[in-house]
Amino acid sequence: MSSESPARAWACVNLEAIAHNLDIARQALPDTELMPVVKAGAYGHGLEPVARRLDNHGISFFGVANVGEARRLLRAGVRTTPFILGPTFPAEREEIVQNNWCCTVSSVEEAEHFQSLAALQNKEFALHVAVDTGMGREGFLPEQLGSVAALLKNMPNLRIEGVMSHFPSADEDVPFTQDEIGLFGDCVGTLQQHFDLRYRHIAASAGELGYEVPVANLARPGLLLYGVAPMASIYDGVLRTTLSLHARVTLVRELPAGHGVSYGRTHVTNRPTRVATIGIGYADGWNRQISNKGARVYINGHYCPMLGRVTMDQIMADVTDLPEVKSGDEVELFGEHIPVTEVAEKAGTIVWEIFTGLGPRLPRVY
Ligand SMILES: *Cc1c(COP(=O)(O)O)cnc(C)c1O
Repeated sequence: MSSESPARAWACVNLEAIAHNLDIARQALPDTELMPVVKAGAYGHGLEPVARRLDNHGISFFGVANVGEARRLLRAGVRTTPFILGPTFPAEREEIVQNNWCCTVSSVEEAEHFQSLAALQNKEFALHVAVDTGMGREGFLPEQLGSVAALLKNMPNLRIEGVMSHFPSADEDVPFTQDEIGLFGDCVGTLQQHFDLRYRHIAASAGELGYEVPVANLARPGLLLYGVAPMASIYDGVLRTTLSLHARVTLVRELPAGHGVSYGRTHVTNRPTRVATIGIGYADGWNRQISNKGARVYINGHYCPMLGRVTMDQIMADVTDLPEVKSGDEVELFGEHIPVTEVAEKAGTIVWEIFTGLGPRLPRVY
């Protein structure tokens, strides 16, 4: 943090808690290898610090969103291979082959391009075949796999070392997901007739905790590492909180009854009210959708209601019952006292979006 003036808002990240949660993921699936997902700056926790902490922690890959994140891992001295989860652009592929980063193909055209780049570099390049078992985002359709495999086999510089899919509804539709696991098994069977598939993976956090996937030997936990288990409530209390969001009171004022608070005057005081102004807003990632949804903040050991709309850099809270609150006091927006799940629910969104919405302006304190 700045030594000159106290930061108005910041996020505290507990890297040990992330390592602990990775151990929980490992205990849940002792025979499965792990690809911790660190895309989107490790869900707002900070890509480099998180990856450095988990590197050499018995993991197989780091899941990243794109080439930019893979580069950042390389520059940070991280040893674990980045696995680029999304599709790649043609202009990025030479660098991918050069660095032996891992990625997927969803078309024969992409595979042909990788084949020619690997031939030019006179090397064997390892690829994972993406299959679309229901997500509709990337991958070959299951019925294409037989003919695709025949084509891929004729690409001598490619080694097809893995198969990947992704559950669209693991935390919402159990019967669909169970059927999908069967379909994924069929896809693996088809490809295994042609290739030695070292890695077979489909599950993210919800899939990892909620289902058995007999053919899989690699899982890709993301949210779970950051302390939240979709659907599996048996993990409540087992996973540790990894990030808490804080800000400071910047001003305390007395307003009379009948006075509006914030844009649109959507809140009007119904009694003389002591109002704390707090130095965090939607530009920091304190989601504006949380306005007037009964959100609370935690100040000096007490919960206080947030008043009116979230503004770009500031919010207001009712501290009428806390006479000692003063400028400079710390406020928790979520963390140990307010679960991030509560914030997501009040904002009408998902925890993933709350974490990844935390802005670049917020210092991360480790
Ligand atoms: C983001 C992502 C994950 C991690 O998902 P969580 O639900 O956060 O565990 C895994 N696999 C793919 C392909 C992803 O895009």
